[in-house]
Amino acid sequence: MAAANGGEARGHSAGAPADGGEASSRGAGGDDARGPRAELDRLAAGLPLRARFTEGGMGLAPTAGGVQGLLAEIVAAMVLAERDGIWSRLKICREDSCQWTYYDRSKNSSKCWCGASCGNRNKTRAYRQRRVVGSARA
Ligand SMILES: [Zn+2]
Repeated sequence: MAAANGGEARGHSAGAPADGGEASSRGAGGDDARGPRAELDRLAAGLPLRARFTEGGMGLAPTAGGVQGLLAEIVAAMVLAERDGIWSRLKICREDSCQWTYYDRSKNSSKCWCGASCGNRNKTRAYRQRRVVGSARA
């Protein structure tokens, strides 16, 4: 979570522990040296990305084009989403056959599927499985 008093961005680097030591666990995936954040940290270190300060404001921008520049732009968007507190609302649909990325606008951030079709498909599958289990017991 970003600093409560807002204002300057400080000490909130995406996934890197501020003290240089091991990071505390942040839930699924964690921050250990082999976790997804550590892997992203390694990948991001090699990207052509730098802080930019312009008349219009400040931000992160790629310093090269091509695939590396595109990846740098994606990483910059990830960092800004984390800073703005919306990263946790960017989710991947739990339906195995879908896995679309979506933005969860629900009040309590509890959406599991990208839309009604995936939710209905999942609920129907669960209902059928319960019926099979129920008929096997009878
Ligand atoms: Zn879906």
